Amino acid sequence: MPLSNSNSTKPTVSKLIIGEANKKRSPAMTTTGKTRSTARRRVAGVATAPKSPVAIEDIEDFSPSETLAIRSSLLRWYDGSHRDLPWRMPITATGGDRNSEDPAAEDQRAYAVWVSEVMLQQTRVHTVIGYFNRWMEKWPTVCDLSTASLEEVNEMWAGLGYYRRARFLLEGAKVIAENGVFPRSSSALRSVQGIGDYTAGAIASIAFSEVVPVVDGNVVRVITRLKAISANPKESRTVKLIWKLAGELVDPSRPGDFNQAIMELGATLCSSTNPNCFKCPVSDQCLAFMLSRQRDNVKVTDYPTKVAKAKQRNDFAAVCIVEIADGLDEEILSDEHHFLLIKRPENGLLAGLWEFPSLILDEASMNQSMRRKEMNKYLRRLFNVDIGGNCKVVLRQDVGEYVHIFSHIRLKMSVELLVLSLHGGFSVSSEEDQSKLTWKCVNGDSLRKMGLTSGVRKVYNMALRFKKQLTHIPKQIPKKKAKRTTG
Ligand code: SF4
Repeated sequence: MPLSNSNSTKPTVSKLIIGEANKKRSPAMTTTGKTRSTARRRVAGVATAPKSPVAIEDIEDFSPSETLAIRSSLLRWYDGSHRDLPWRMPITATGGDRNSEDPAAEDQRAYAVWVSEVMLQQTRVHTVIGYFNRWMEKWPTVCDLSTASLEEVNEMWAGLGYYRRARFLLEGAKVIAENGVFPRSSSALRSVQGIGDYTAGAIASIAFSEVVPVVDGNVVRVITRLKAISANPKESRTVKLIWKLAGELVDPSRPGDFNQAIMELGATLCSSTNPNCFKCPVSDQCLAFMLSRQRDNVKVTDYPTKVAKAKQRNDFAAVCIVEIADGLDEEILSDEHHFLLIKRPENGLLAGLWEFPSLILDEASMNQSMRRKEMNKYLRRLFNVDIGGNCKVVLRQDVGEYVHIFSHIRLKMSVELLVLSLHGGFSVSSEEDQSKLTWKCVNGDSLRKMGLTSGVRKVYNMALRFKKQLTHIPKQIPKKKAKRTTG
């Protein structure tokens, strides 16, 4: 029982220094309850989170006794309660197991760790499990992956977001397959494009037992709490300090398990908003926990200090789902219609992924008539489609709005469905456009099987829902001429 453990490994950062610093900083501790509750609110706020009570350069290393206690408590807890996740299972593809020193088994493990760690960046474990299993079934080894196309990889990744990660996995696999060996140290791994410090540390420690740390968001949370570090966790010197402290803790005999244990602690008991300190295996070594019990105005969730996120940019897009009837089949719910898809540029946001024709417009141009005017121009310029001229409009309706949040962009899309009756299909307007543009027309069945981004899929589903609700296609009814009456 962690909280009933005695004594010997209490945190060594000076409690006195922290206490004195807090006294100087906050009048709440020496005045009335009213002032204290004000201080509590201030501490909880993003802008007024507590300043570092100890200058970052004065944060002490973990003492040998703290280090040993943290290692043994954390590993004992991990052995007894870690989650069974597919990338922690014995490696069956080569018949090896995860503790084997067989190089082939280690390489296989390294590949599984690599795929899982890349998938887990920005994505919850629960979501990743299905993706990981499907990925490993399709590409069981790094050599298998190296033969895949970007299109296939994007399809497999569809819905996970941050598609650059998938591209880097593929490019890294090609390099590794070409070299014929899996890099076996964190420094060698870092030379593979897309493998950063964190992923290199995870692969090297878990697959090859190199004694190196890993620092992800979970580890930042655990270490800033263990040491009550309230300096900005994004600042480079804080990051450096956390890597150093994490390096001190890694267990030399079980580096991979230790790294997984500290990440597991951050992902489960030491969560950002609701830590369960009373069940925590390292509560005896946790300075934030100790302070929270000593001081009314300190909570463990004050650590790490919350940093205001950079303001998101607001973008606006007109999206047009162009559906093509072949000239005979103008039935609105036909599955024989084709949809126009355009490939995004190979660089930048959602690079190389398919989408419906989309135009980024300024907010003032997002009314229906401006959107249609701009989209008409775009389709005419690129595909010789003259709306209402060389093609017949079967239906044109707005089907709704959809907001997609990227890390730095809030993209508001106004979506319309444009069903055209078009003899002879599409062709691009000029050779110049042909070289810049990759596009295709696919029927509904193929479109549903494609690996589309979640944004494109949501937009498509909006159109489907709209069509299903449609019981009557508004038709232009010619106005009757007024009858002449004779007297
Ligand atoms: S904050 Fe709580 S859960 Fe997190 S390390 Fe400290 S005692 Fe454990």
